Amino acid sequence: MHAVEDYTQTEEKTFSIFDQVTNLDHEQVVFCHDKSTGLKSIIAIHNTTLGPALGGTRMWNYANDEEAINDVLRLSRGMTFKAAISGINLGGGKAIIYGDSNTQKTEALFRRYGRFVNSLGGKYITAEDVGTSTQDMEYVAMETEYVTGVPQDMGGSGDPSPFTAYGVYLGMKASAKHVWGSDKMEGKKVIVQGVGHVGIHLVDRLTKDGAKVYISDINEAQLKSVSEKFGATVVELGTEFDLDVDVYAPCALGATLNDDTISRLKCSVIAGAANNQLQDEEKHGNMLVDRGILYAPDFLINAGGVINVYNEWIGYNYERAMRSTEKIYDRTLEIYKLAQTENISTQKAAIKIARERLKSIGRWQARM
Ligand code: NAD
Repeated sequence: MHAVEDYTQTEEKTFSIFDQVTNLDHEQVVFCHDKSTGLKSIIAIHNTTLGPALGGTRMWNYANDEEAINDVLRLSRGMTFKAAISGINLGGGKAIIYGDSNTQKTEALFRRYGRFVNSLGGKYITAEDVGTSTQDMEYVAMETEYVTGVPQDMGGSGDPSPFTAYGVYLGMKASAKHVWGSDKMEGKKVIVQGVGHVGIHLVDRLTKDGAKVYISDINEAQLKSVSEKFGATVVELGTEFDLDVDVYAPCALGATLNDDTISRLKCSVIAGAANNQLQDEEKHGNMLVDRGILYAPDFLINAGGVINVYNEWIGYNYERAMRSTEKIYDRTLEIYKLAQTENISTQKAAIKIARERLKSIGRWQARM
């Protein structure tokens, strides 16, 4: 299974980069190459209405260019909505680097990449994502000031994942409140798919609350260590969708909510960290409504990390970053109310609110 989202290209017979860029309404896409370091990277800037485009750098062994471009375009678009709905003054961007993050990382590669980020003059600000770490951002920071998520001992805010996990946890609790009338997670059965940087912190919070936590991961060693540390029950890969649980928390990859999986789900709530969980926003958002499963829009509840790095960008203050992340709880409840009132999917309701903010700020800015 690929870590990138499996976006089906049903209608297009031939792949056109410009069709993709115009369909998703991107401002700029930059292809970066350096022979000496072996760097091949794409930086996608989706929208800078609210501020510079901030989004992490993903390092992944893409099977082909189409897969890489789809990934970076979809992820950067998601960042625009994430910042907009979170009330922070950032645009949406994302970058990918081709390669195996276990074997192909070098100081030179990340410094050369940092130079490319720098060449955009602050239009794009980077951070870590799947396959990149605070150490990599330290190298990037040697070449550009347009980087966040750098280590704390370098004046940064460190790994954003604990903040992301906290936001997801709050979004899950708000979902519980909406469905069961109480946000207590005690006794609730939750499957956390993917126990990496974010998943592990989520498991920690849920087990402390007395939830019954199930976990899955392709990384056996990680699975064993999380299971032993928190007493979580390991389930076989692929069975996550068939479990008799209350909550499904996708914390690995995108596009896990699709034609195959939605009909199998037995949970009442979906609340996780992965980006772009719905393979097709419209179709699969509606399928979940039809099945009576409450979906916590990913870009709404996984914003804790970007909220934290935004705080790093404007001058770090831990308490302010926490306070800002805590707003995810009420915001999630508001989105559910809107979805109910307008009889639309929660995904559509969240996008509507994000678009409204983009529109109102954009209109005002255009007159300056
Ligand atoms: P990570 O790479 O640290 O963890 C992902 C985990 O998922 C790994 O342990 C990996 O082995 C596992 N995994 C991969 N394929 C799997 C599969 N098929 N089934 C089960 N497990 C699988 O990444 P992360 O930083 O924890 O992020 C998790 C997700 O949340 C990603 O989609 C990421 O884009 C998203 N996200 C992360 C942050 C953040 O702050 N780190 C912020 C917003 C969104």
